Amino acid sequence: MALSAAALAEEIRRRRTFAIISHPDAGKTTLTEKLLLYGGAIRSAGSVKSRRSDRHATSDWLEMEQERGISITASVLHFEYQNFRINLLDTPGHQDFSEDTYRALTAADSAIMLLDNRKGVEVQTQKLFSVCKKRRLPIYTFVNKCDRIGEDPLRLLDDVQAELGIDCFVSTWPVRREGRLVGVYDRGCGKVWLYEEAGDHGRSRPRATLVHLESDELATAIGSEGVEKLSEEIELIEIAGSEADFDAVERGEASPVCFGSALTNFGVDVFLERFLSLAPPPSPREVTDGVIEPAAHPFSGFVFKVQANMDPRHRDRVAFVRVCSGEFEEGAEAVVSRTGQKLRLAQPQEFMARERTHADSLAVAGDVVGLLDRGNLRVGDTVALGDRIEYPGVPRFSPEHFSQIHIEDALRRKHLDRGLRHLAEEGTILLLFAPSITGPIPIVGAVGSLQFDVLLDRLQREYGVSARLEKLPFHCARWVTGPDDQIEKVANAYGRRRVMDADGAQLILFDNEWTLRRSMEQEKDLTFHDVQPNTSVDA
Ligand code: GDP
Repeated sequence: MALSAAALAEEIRRRRTFAIISHPDAGKTTLTEKLLLYGGAIRSAGSVKSRRSDRHATSDWLEMEQERGISITASVLHFEYQNFRINLLDTPGHQDFSEDTYRALTAADSAIMLLDNRKGVEVQTQKLFSVCKKRRLPIYTFVNKCDRIGEDPLRLLDDVQAELGIDCFVSTWPVRREGRLVGVYDRGCGKVWLYEEAGDHGRSRPRATLVHLESDELATAIGSEGVEKLSEEIELIEIAGSEADFDAVERGEASPVCFGSALTNFGVDVFLERFLSLAPPPSPREVTDGVIEPAAHPFSGFVFKVQANMDPRHRDRVAFVRVCSGEFEEGAEAVVSRTGQKLRLAQPQEFMARERTHADSLAVAGDVVGLLDRGNLRVGDTVALGDRIEYPGVPRFSPEHFSQIHIEDALRRKHLDRGLRHLAEEGTILLLFAPSITGPIPIVGAVGSLQFDVLLDRLQREYGVSARLEKLPFHCARWVTGPDDQIEKVANAYGRRRVMDADGAQLILFDNEWTLRRSMEQEKDLTFHDVQPNTSVDA
């Protein structure tokens, strides 16, 4: 179905594509569930298990899907809320999978930064924030867990400003009675939302009433002393806090902050509505030589994630494409910019409760489509109709852990090779080969060591290969280009090893950052690359 230009522009305008960045345990899963509840995608929210030992091995959503039986796609959760079409991108919680999260952020138009009111900015938040900042993503902050007393809110905001260098301004403020959260002050309208607990541990949406600061309802809810204290706090926010500067928010330099509790739902609705009204729809994106307007250009997008074997019964891979312009047109012939290969756009796939189905809903700029792929697409590839354009690459991190891989049963070698190739194409691991007289020895590199656990588990489950890893004493890798004898000389020094990747590009592994730096300074004939030269661009 081809939309008219006006209808396409309208569809794009109502898209909100974002990710939630937070430190594990800040409440991302709980908040996500509440967004689904409010969007009508689920009827009641169940409380998320407090401790999940195997949570790092799967996407948080796959886990939610298993626990709650809700339908979600593996990398994006989409639902309607009021007149918005929401695309919430999955960001795995564990730090060893931050590369996945960084990639998801390249596909987002904005981010929600979720903080725990007792902990403020934590390590993982800081790292993810720096990626958002680099991309100038607008960030909206939700201070969670305000049903418990936490750090003083103004102090917390000061800390955020100091640690992240972003201006914070209060959008909603917690209203308490004897330490208990009863509502939030909405700075936009100067009134207070009072909530009534539904008595079902946050499973359903609480009743909210909007009342004046001078109202009897507020005085009854928090007492006259409470009202007085709140008025003082509001005065303080107005004096000490920043003014709302929405242009700065758009540039990613300031963040509106809301307080609330994802567990009891207090303040979640106001936050969500404020966020949706302020967060930008898909905006123009830069390509190598120009800018692509979402509504004025035919279909284009880039692959931000590739996943093999999502459905064990179908041995195929799915490339997740963030649509950046136009409308997905089934049957049209697109071009993959890296290779110049033609790609017929087949029916996009959707994954509902682990079953593969065809997605029949419309996909326009802002949406994510899953394309079945037979090995033609890689993370970072641009797929476009019309002119050959290229979106900037998706960041790829240099691995910090390396292991040689051994198999018990030599007859499974072909299966191992296939599994390693697939998983490397997904970007789960970096696959390298060390030359030897008996043939190339596979070496795997990973950013976080947990990725190795996942690798072994998936090789076993998906390829029937029992493998074991032997840790190697290297901690960084660089692609190198230059005269071969020079590469050989550098690689032969103590604590290094020469290897190549699956495309035959040369790398040197180093035992530590210091020897790497020294080589980079000394070897003027060689060029050291963070990413594979000529195939992807560093973000
Ligand atoms: P994630 O790791 O960021 O996905 O965090 P979860 O959503 O799994 O939550 C971690 C823990 O914090 C769980 O025990 C939740 O019940 C709890 N939690 C989440 N939101 C709130 C909240 O608003 N208040 C309180 N008190 N606990 C919360």
